[in-house]
Amino acid sequence: MVPLSQIWTVASYVLSKKLRGEKRYPLVLMLEPLFRCNLACAGCGKIQYPDHILNRRLTPEQCWKAAEECGAPIVSIAGGEPLVHKEIDRIVAGLIERKKYIYLCTNAILLRKRIDLFKPSKYLTFSIHLDGLKEEHDESVCREGVYETAVEGIREAVKRGFRVTINCTLFDGVDPQRVRAFFDEAMNLGIEGIMVSPGYSYQKAPDQEHFLQRNNTRELFRQILKERKKSWKFNLSPLFLEFLQGNIEYDCTPWGNPTYNIFGWQKPCYLLQDGYVKSFKELIENTPWEKYGYRSGNPKCANCMVHSGYEATAVNDTFGSWKGFVKTVKASLS
Ligand code: SF4
Repeated sequence: MVPLSQIWTVASYVLSKKLRGEKRYPLVLMLEPLFRCNLACAGCGKIQYPDHILNRRLTPEQCWKAAEECGAPIVSIAGGEPLVHKEIDRIVAGLIERKKYIYLCTNAILLRKRIDLFKPSKYLTFSIHLDGLKEEHDESVCREGVYETAVEGIREAVKRGFRVTINCTLFDGVDPQRVRAFFDEAMNLGIEGIMVSPGYSYQKAPDQEHFLQRNNTRELFRQILKERKKSWKFNLSPLFLEFLQGNIEYDCTPWGNPTYNIFGWQKPCYLLQDGYVKSFKELIENTPWEKYGYRSGNPKCANCMVHSGYEATAVNDTFGSWKGFVKTVKASLS
């Protein structure tokens, strides 16, 4: 279960922003300290850069400065593969010192080798990339044996007392029954919870055929989540799961998960690259936000229902009013 201290930190942060009348504030910093990865997944939009870009790294100091600048209570360290970064332990330690709740997103290939660099903490969660059971995951990452390596990594991290979640991206054509079986298997590994999201159709990704369209997404999630098992725990807002099933209409909150990487602050969101700016202030003040999100009519946003765009909307709904809070409690109990 997510520690109460984390829930309290996020709730009090949102309430303080509301009380101050701030319209746009971040919830999760998406920190990409490098783009280099030790896999080459078909649905990835991040690793198609030339070598001289893949060889660049953010320094720990740049990472800490970005976290301080934007002030989000949660930092998701993505990439590329963060465990490839030689100073990932220093980056994590500095963020913990700043009391940030960190989700270190990893394919877990290097987890057993590098786990001694870290100490269990309520602030640190290993968020392991797994897109399904062995067959589906190995196909998704285009390499045999990665599922088993990831499972060994999860077992080791759980045994040592780390917080562990899985993050799972679903693409068109997945079998809902296989996804349900995968959720059972994942929970049996002793993880804290599941993060699940439909994939986004990156224009740079090699496999363009298997991204989900909006209606397919809703239908898929309705089938996966009907008669939801009590043993499944989700590391997501209950309202985001309602949104995925088409039970709630939301628009995106593109500034909710701002992205910082070797190019600077990425406009406008984790998925689109409409330019970069030097400071977080510039990102918030100079991005034409009205041009993004489902309701804007922007074709790049038409089929997007991803976690990094819509979870912030769901969290704001939960903590923004009593009505939203009651809705969340009801969704949690359903
Ligand atoms: S709808 Fe998706 S692609 Fe568009 S701004 Fe939001 S997160 Fe980005």
